[in-house]
Amino acid sequence: MSVRVRIAPSPTGNLHIGTARTAVFNWLFARHHGGQFILRIEDTDQTRSQPEYTKNILDGLTWLGLNWDQGPIFQSQRLELYRQAIKTLLDQGLAYRCYTTAEELEEMRAAQKARKEAPRYDNRHRHLTPEQRAAFEAEGRKPVIRFLIDDNREIVWQDLVRGKLTWKASDLGGDMVIARASEQDEIGQPLYNLAVVVDDVDMKISHVIRGEDHISNTAKQILLYEAMGANIPEFAHTPLILNMQGQKLSKRDGVTSISEFKEMGFTAEAIANYMSLLGWSPPDSTQEIFSLEQAAKEFSFERVNKAGAKFDWAKLDWINSQYLHQMSASELVDLLIPYWQGAGYKFDQTNARSWLESLAAVIGPSLTRLPEAVEMSRMLFVESIEFTPAAVEQLSKEGATEAVQAILEVLSDYPELSADNASQIVKTVIKEHKLKKGLVMRSLRAALTGDVHGPDLMASWVLLHQQGVDKTRLQQALTL
Ligand code: GLU
Repeated sequence: MSVRVRIAPSPTGNLHIGTARTAVFNWLFARHHGGQFILRIEDTDQTRSQPEYTKNILDGLTWLGLNWDQGPIFQSQRLELYRQAIKTLLDQGLAYRCYTTAEELEEMRAAQKARKEAPRYDNRHRHLTPEQRAAFEAEGRKPVIRFLIDDNREIVWQDLVRGKLTWKASDLGGDMVIARASEQDEIGQPLYNLAVVVDDVDMKISHVIRGEDHISNTAKQILLYEAMGANIPEFAHTPLILNMQGQKLSKRDGVTSISEFKEMGFTAEAIANYMSLLGWSPPDSTQEIFSLEQAAKEFSFERVNKAGAKFDWAKLDWINSQYLHQMSASELVDLLIPYWQGAGYKFDQTNARSWLESLAAVIGPSLTRLPEAVEMSRMLFVESIEFTPAAVEQLSKEGATEAVQAILEVLSDYPELSADNASQIVKTVIKEHKLKKGLVMRSLRAALTGDVHGPDLMASWVLLHQQGVDKTRLQQALTL
């Protein structure tokens, strides 16, 4: 059997991490089996669907490297297909027009509540006579279309993640609405469960991989597949993403859309890597850093957890730092330029390229998220620096001024400065002035960078020298 899977986001919001993680599992499964990964945009809800959300979803999937083989296919362009399916169900007596008004439904629910029963439609219009129907029409009632659900049925499927699942049809809330009433059209507006099944049949989807919040829809959809005489695909319901306390994610957890993770300075590779670990682990569970291609080789639902996956910011940060630390200076510069520009740092992109790459090589090993580069490299971009209180204190220590003075003097012998030269200068000063190495290094850092912490000192010095600002900095420090 050829594997055909789909991700079917609704463009009613930006690409959320939950949908993106489901997309990752679909992609991994498709690639593992050499199958097809299809992108379908479920935009039948015309009022809530927005083109900018579609764009955000497409951009997000592309950024993550989740390339699709077919699509995007828009449900809004396939309404005729859904209408045909509804018409067939009506003709076969498997669906019917229901004229119950909103007030009547409300009354029905209130009565059920009073009897302490679960709310459900009581199937009251299942067997209307042509006369009753005509009377409702004459009142001007607009019908919805309901699909008959036999309450005696039990729906059973073997879920690839959750094992055998059983649903009583009587728990599905009565005959299900498959099309909303519409002024323009006698079939009405096809709804989610119907459109999904029609599409999944039409697109020959072999495996429906989606969030476990869809389990009750699956029970309903299986009945629709049967009614349409179609093959029922396999289902895999992926675990929810929870916060560290094991609760449903809320706004406060800050776990949002892919575009926001991008803005926070995570790399696409790190996010994709982390998402594949949200509910899945490779056979060698000590392996935590891998590309999507590597994960695809190993992916199977046997290693997908039933339990919710906890979203761990610390782990994501760690994974992101691994990617940033491994990255070539050139790749890192490409990612950092927008942040440096955003901070208003001045540089000429073409001339400064090699300098920027040296800078990226210096700060890269300390980065966890890209925006940290702004503060870390400030002292290398700006003309004049401010000294932190700790730096001022360092420079007021006994021997500090002498050390800086001496460095300045020796430095004048070096028109070009390499890291080796820089170390040589420090060694000379230590030896000739009988100063402690720690004092010289800390004072040099304070004088050059205005701080007592920061990236590799010798490398930073070389970068400052190339900018032509190291001497002025040392002189400035002496005037403190
Ligand atoms: N449009 C649905 C959603 O965004 C997906 C439904 C499905 O995968 O079947 O949750």
